[in-house]
Amino acid sequence: MIKICPFCVIEEERIWLSNEKAISFRDAYPVTEGHTLVIPKRHAESIFELEEEELDAFWELVSLARKKLFEEYKPDGMNIGINDGRAAGQTVMHAHLHLIPRRQGDMEDPRGGVRLIFPKRARYW
Ligand code: 5GP
Ligand code: ZN
Repeated sequence: MIKICPFCVIEEERIWLSNEKAISFRDAYPVTEGHTLVIPKRHAESIFELEEEELDAFWELVSLARKKLFEEYKPDGMNIGINDGRAAGQTVMHAHLHLIPRRQGDMEDPRGGVRLIFPKRARYW
């Protein structure tokens, strides 16, 4: 059975921002308000498979999306991250970057940020 990549068939009306080689849209299952993804238009499992032009367009859109999310939602901070490979938690195998707006107090103790994927090892201090 052929499995269709959900990001290759993202509906036009879900697209928030785009440029020649990348698009950005809200995550369908947001972990915080404004949770947004940026993907290359071309299907690749990892951003490290992209050509230079695609990568430039990708980072340009990440930067724009970050700026616009700060303007729109006025969060106190943001987690920006990539799950690169299944072992790292990637579930949609079309490369994407998460922009996750954070608010003061949205969890009890946010220290460690992305290190919290391993909660028991996150804090060395
Ligand atoms: P991953 O775990 O691969 O880093 O993240 C995949 C992300 O894609 C998840 O945050 C999930 O909520 C989101 N997602 C999965 N399917 C869809 C979809 O069809 N549309 C959108 N907008 N997001 C999706
Ligand atoms: Zn795809």
